[in-house]
Amino acid sequence: MDIPDVTGAVCPVPLTHDEQIVMGHGSGGKMAADLIAKIFLPVFDNPALRAGDDGAVVELPAGRIAVSTDSHVVYPLFFPGGDIGRLAVCGTVNDVAMMGAQPAFLTAGFILEEGLALATLQRVAASMQAAAAEAGVQIISGDTKVVQRGKADGLYINTTGLGAVPPGRKLGGAQAQPGDAVLLSGSMGDHGIAVLAARGELGFETDVQSDCAPLNGLIADLLAACPAVHVLRDPTRGGVATTLNEIATQSATCITLFEKNLPVRPAVAAVCEMLGFDPLYVANEGKVLVILPRENADLALQVLRRSKYGADAALIGEVGQSPQGRVLMKTALGTTRVVDMLAGEMLPRIC
Ligand code: MG
Repeated sequence: MDIPDVTGAVCPVPLTHDEQIVMGHGSGGKMAADLIAKIFLPVFDNPALRAGDDGAVVELPAGRIAVSTDSHVVYPLFFPGGDIGRLAVCGTVNDVAMMGAQPAFLTAGFILEEGLALATLQRVAASMQAAAAEAGVQIISGDTKVVQRGKADGLYINTTGLGAVPPGRKLGGAQAQPGDAVLLSGSMGDHGIAVLAARGELGFETDVQSDCAPLNGLIADLLAACPAVHVLRDPTRGGVATTLNEIATQSATCITLFEKNLPVRPAVAAVCEMLGFDPLYVANEGKVLVILPRENADLALQVLRRSKYGADAALIGEVGQSPQGRVLMKTALGTTRVVDMLAGEMLPRIC
């Protein structure tokens, strides 16, 4: 985190305000330094951050590095099962983990709206650190900018993650092969429905919680037991249907889903039915799709189900040859239908 040296600096005495973010907190001057010293440093504390230089210098094993970045604009900031801070850490940790890498470091960029309560920022930072600690990653560099009142919804967070990819590991959507099994680590749609409910837009009560969680531990266990995994991908925006369409296109295969095996919580199914949503298209933030040779599927399911984030893992489909680039579904009625990509935005600002 860039801590400006304000020793001997001559600048206008800023208005101090203890409770809220003011424009001066983005000045790069004393107030910005105070904000870092009061809110971020005590929570994220680590040697790279404490050094206070323009960038962090850290050690990673030699070899290939996986990097992923994501901006988080979820509204509202807090929702059942998570908040923007937990989401910002888990989302990026998971994207690095999907490449078969062990996430090690994160950076965090904050866009803060003038008037944001410092207590809210503190709560978000604490949640980020709790998620980072759970994932075993450090937040080693950061940035804070402030925009005028009304120009942002409280705060936005960008995170970038870094992790080393072990030698010989090659995962990606293009690796799916005919004969592979498709597994999902748990129920669909929990995150999207939880955020929607938190906006008070449902018109009725539901106890659905976001599944927002760091999956790197579960994935490390899976890859240790089943190194032959071909694809890992988290079905976030656009849900399982859209993610599998991407993979079918990348690998020029056909993926067939088994409707009766698709895991959906009854509460999510009920909300989806009332609103006319299909859980296959609703976002998840703590689930992974695993595509691997059929003969490894049973072992992979056992490993996933041992983790608290994979307890409801299921075999949901198989990879075939044609029609290439398509996702099909064998319905509970025994018919087959096409499962398309999500067109447009179904639920805006859910991550
Ligand atoms: Mg992803």
